[in-house]
Amino acid sequence: MNNYFNLSKCDQLVFDLIQKEIRRQQEGLILIPSENIASYAVLEAASTVLTNKYSEGYPHHRYYTGNQYIDEIEQIAIDRAKLLFKAEHANVQPHSGSSANMAAYMAVLNPGDKILGMDLSHGGHLTHGAKVNFSGKLYQCIAYGVNKETEQIDMDEIRAIAQKEKPKIIVSGATAYPRLIDFDGFAKIAKEINAYAMADISHIAGLCAVDLHPNPTSNHDIVTTTTHKTLRGPRGGIILSKIEDSLKEIYSPDNPKTLAQKIDSAVMPGIQGGPLEHIIAAKAINFQEALQINFIEYQKQIISNAQALAKTLTSNGLRLVSGGTDNHLILIDCTNLQITGKEGADSLAEVNIYTNFNKIPFDTRPALNPSGIRIGTPSLTTRGMKEPEMVIIGNLIAEILKDINNETKKEQVRKKVKELTDQYSIYTNL
Ligand SMILES: *Cc1c(COP(=O)(O)O)cnc(C)c1O
Repeated sequence: MNNYFNLSKCDQLVFDLIQKEIRRQQEGLILIPSENIASYAVLEAASTVLTNKYSEGYPHHRYYTGNQYIDEIEQIAIDRAKLLFKAEHANVQPHSGSSANMAAYMAVLNPGDKILGMDLSHGGHLTHGAKVNFSGKLYQCIAYGVNKETEQIDMDEIRAIAQKEKPKIIVSGATAYPRLIDFDGFAKIAKEINAYAMADISHIAGLCAVDLHPNPTSNHDIVTTTTHKTLRGPRGGIILSKIEDSLKEIYSPDNPKTLAQKIDSAVMPGIQGGPLEHIIAAKAINFQEALQINFIEYQKQIISNAQALAKTLTSNGLRLVSGGTDNHLILIDCTNLQITGKEGADSLAEVNIYTNFNKIPFDTRPALNPSGIRIGTPSLTTRGMKEPEMVIIGNLIAEILKDINNETKKEQVRKKVKELTDQYSIYTNL
């Protein structure tokens, strides 16, 4: 890795802060389930001269000259994304997961159309119809949640809502859901009511790519994802889709475009201008990494680690939403510890264990001070930690959460965190 020589010469202030952030990541246990550690190769691609280039349009159809190499790079990213996710079409230009969702909606919906998505407070994402988000403002959004008993998605309940409300699109996928999602079931319900089926696999993309979680590309019209969560690539988004529009007969008379064409035009010129080709190159590198055989082992270890962590937390008396996990993510209910999720997450941050406070289903507390803590294992797994470390970390988390005002204990845990992080580098010579 380069030594940031020019950066330090040009701007000592920002350089110093970047150095501090490298230290914070190295000396912390990152348990935020949406964060990961991208490889050197991904970081290198993201810092290349490709950032200098304007390339509005798509490979071989650009609004600027000089794109002969950019075209090849973007095409490689597209081909690898299709191969990795077994998709018919891929758009690799969205700047983020939210942009991917915005473009996906724009491709197939008109303002005012109805979206059925998962309730934010039950684990859905802001872009799945939250009132404060563009999705809730531009579209008519209705929500499904989890069952109160099982704290899991109930497909019968979703079918009932879908048949009553007749949304134009059903969005599955979540940002705080620890269980497998029945994508086949969602696709079937969408078909029954003649709606588009869209899955947002942002959190679980790495698992879907290697079939450790059902991959929705085979039976969904549109699949969106971020590239920086379990997938472990650069910060960004992509849209995967079918080529043909399954509802063509309804929408087509005055709009003869295929679904693939609608998505591409929704991204550019719909919501974005020039793509970030340095990030697209980094996405191409990431997809290549994810196509290697050891990526399967990595994803398997993410799940084994999450389950080992869940078991340790449970054996310490902590209550987990839905009782455990099938994926990379765990939601801790802090209610019986008599603390809020925010108090818990803040205390863990004091000992360099980074998590995020989160609403739990049927939470009566507000989003800025909710009852839950959301944790996950992608980042620790990237560092090489396995089940024995998860047991140690689970015990440390429980110790802190059960006694958040004990400063002596915090000092002890901080030391143990340092011992652990010293053994597992995020990068060896950054
Ligand atoms: C993270 C996430 C997003 C948004 O990604 P950003 O890159 O932060 O915009 C969208 N949907 C889901 C389900 C997510 O988990």
